[in-house]
Amino acid sequence: MEPTRIALVGMGKIARDQHLPAIAGDAGFSLAATVSPHDRGIDGIPHLDSLDDLLANGPAVDAVALCTPPQVRYDLATLALKRGIHVFLEKPPGATLAEVDVLQERARKTGSTLFAAWHSRFAAGVAPARAWLADRHVSKVEIVWREDVRVWHPGQAWIWEPGGLGVFDPGINALSIATHILPRPFFLRSGTLELPANRAAPIAAQLLFCDAAGAPITMDLDWRQTGPQSWDITIETDAGTCKLTRGGSVLTLPSGTEHSEDREYAGLYARFATLIRTGRSDVDTGPLKLVADAFLRARRETAEAFVE
Ligand code: NAP
Repeated sequence: MEPTRIALVGMGKIARDQHLPAIAGDAGFSLAATVSPHDRGIDGIPHLDSLDDLLANGPAVDAVALCTPPQVRYDLATLALKRGIHVFLEKPPGATLAEVDVLQERARKTGSTLFAAWHSRFAAGVAPARAWLADRHVSKVEIVWREDVRVWHPGQAWIWEPGGLGVFDPGINALSIATHILPRPFFLRSGTLELPANRAAPIAAQLLFCDAAGAPITMDLDWRQTGPQSWDITIETDAGTCKLTRGGSVLTLPSGTEHSEDREYAGLYARFATLIRTGRSDVDTGPLKLVADAFLRARRETAEAFVE
């Protein structure tokens, strides 16, 4: 079978760090073009300034991976889907929930694949944690996602704008894991968002969720963490503690600790290939729904202005 010709749209940090190597390592895809307004692309691959230009002047593509900030993703996905091109959406799948619904409907009509990628779900410890938790009784969950925004998001103005999610940009990764591994659905009870006086998005959040059986789930997000970084989820159950650390790559169960090689983006592209081959889409807006609920339900407090 011929490889899927794919264009990478939005040549920023994640496109270069993860998408380029994942595509190069997957025989099911061939990189046909790159698209980005201010980037020069990579040697030997056609580069265009806009998706409009790519679609008008080629080269032909079967799929696009949208690695832009979420605020521009809907328009780009619409352009592609209208032409029957398969679309890989980086997380979060959009800037609003309703726009993602519209994309889903469009993909259904055109028969294209729409894939809302949640890379953290492909971290090594996540699938075994989900299997272990499937028939456990969960009594308490603690999510701690604290990192240094200056290290991980330098110069990313979009992340502080409406639709950029602020500290929920990494926090939604934790929610993508929690919604995938916990045996029961959960929802927000209360919370606090801390917004720097000079920014439109939160730098920290403390949230209290509860699952359908009443178990409390706390979430502590903070972008002001210097020194050791924390991307941890601790789940207390009737059979002991399940702990995912380092963003889901290390799993500790009562029987011991497992740590495997990082294959998140290889896993995402394998999944995208399967969806295309079988004519299906995969769009789970659950994690984005919980973030939207935080903006709807949590109290806002003003924090010290953030200067990068
Ligand atoms: P980034 O470094 O700011 O890169 C985004 C790129 O999108 C920019 O380089 C910009 O290109 C391009 N862009 C903006 N508008 C565009 C348009 N209309 N058409 C084509 N390209 C456009 O951001 P990032 O960190 O890669 O994050 C991008 C997305 O990936 C976010 O949703 C983020 O949550 C997700 N993600 C990021 C990471 C990470 O570790 N950084 C991990 C997983 C997922 P120009 O420079 O050419 O203007």
